[in-house]
Amino acid sequence: MAEAKLIFTTDYEIFGNGSGSVEHCMIKPTEDMARLLEKHGARMTVFFDICEYWAFKAEFEKGTLSENWAQLIESQLQDLVQRGHDVQLHFHPQWLDYEFDGQDWKLNFDLWRIGVLKYEDETYPERGLDQLFKRGKETLETLLQPVKSDYRCHIFRAGAWSMQPETDVLRAMRENGFDIDSTVVPGLKFEDNFTKYDFTAAPKDRPHWTIQSNLCQPELDGTITEIPIFSAPTPLVTNAAFLWMKSNRKIAFKPDGCSGTAIATEGKGKWRKILETITTSRKMFTFGDATPAEEMKYMVGRALREVHRMNVNLPVVAISHPKTFANTEEFDVFLAWCVGQKNVEFSTYDNYLKGE
Ligand SMILES: [Zn+2]
Repeated sequence: MAEAKLIFTTDYEIFGNGSGSVEHCMIKPTEDMARLLEKHGARMTVFFDICEYWAFKAEFEKGTLSENWAQLIESQLQDLVQRGHDVQLHFHPQWLDYEFDGQDWKLNFDLWRIGVLKYEDETYPERGLDQLFKRGKETLETLLQPVKSDYRCHIFRAGAWSMQPETDVLRAMRENGFDIDSTVVPGLKFEDNFTKYDFTAAPKDRPHWTIQSNLCQPELDGTITEIPIFSAPTPLVTNAAFLWMKSNRKIAFKPDGCSGTAIATEGKGKWRKILETITTSRKMFTFGDATPAEEMKYMVGRALREVHRMNVNLPVVAISHPKTFANTEEFDVFLAWCVGQKNVEFSTYDNYLKGE
C-alpha cells in the first residue's frame, strides 16, 4: 500500500542579517523540536548553515566573540546524531565575507544567493563552489563521525532556496559526492532584493526526480536526486481560516528570548503581510512559523491525495526553522494525529530512497 512518507527538516541558523542569539534562536527551540519528534517516534534532518558557524568559530578564537557559540552548536549536533537525527549541509554565503565589531555582524549581501558564486574563485578561493562544498563536507564529517562512524554528509539545501542559476552548484555537489538535494518547492516562485527562485517548471507528477544541471529538469542519467519540499494549493478561504486560528490562539511566531529580524519582512507593514498570506495560492509545508495543527493536517491530506492519484510512496518534506519554532503545542497535536493515520509514516531521506 502506497504511503505518505513524512520527512521533517529544519534549517539551523540565526537570522540572515546576523541578528538573533544562538542559545535562544537555535539551541533551545531545536531541542524542543527534537523532543516532540522523539515523543512520537519521528526523527528530523537538520540543515546546518555552516558559513555562520565558521564565522562564530573564527571570531571566538580571535577573542572578538565572547561566547563560544560554535561549541554550543557542535555539542547539540553531536547529541542529535546520537539520538538518531541527521545533520546535513546548508549554506548562507553572505557569511563568507563579514565584519564583526564584537556586537553586530555586517554581512556581504552580494553573496546572498549561492547561485552567484563561481565554481572556482581565483581572488577568494574559499568562496569558490568546489572549495565550499569540500570544506563543508569535511567540517561536518569531522564533527560527526566520532559519534556515528558511518555518518556521511551527502544531502544539501540552498539557503533561502536561492540556488539558481544552479549548473555550477550542482557540478560542485557531484564532484564532492552529494547525491540528494532538497531545495525545490514545486510551483513556487519568489523574488525580492535578496532572495530569488523560480520552481514553476518543476515536475508535479513525480515523487522525486534525478537531475544533472537544472533543478527542475528531470534527467534520466542525473546523479543527484531532487527530493522536493512539499507544497500544495491553498485557496483564499483556507488561508484566511489558518490565519484566523493563528491569531485567535495567539500562537507565538518566535521562541522565548529569540529576537532578531528576518531580512525579507523587514519594514513590511502588518496589513501587507496579512494580504500576502491570504492571497498566496500555493504554500510550502512548514511546521514552524506559528502554523496551526489544522494547516499541517491539511498538507498531509493533500499529500495523501497525491499518493492515491500516483499510487506511489510520496516523500512529504516539511520545513521549519528553530528561530521561528514556537508552536510546540500545535506540532504536538499534529504529530499525535499522524500516528493514528492510515498510510502516513515518519521517514527520512535515506529510508525513503531505500523504500523503507
Ligand atoms: Zn537557511
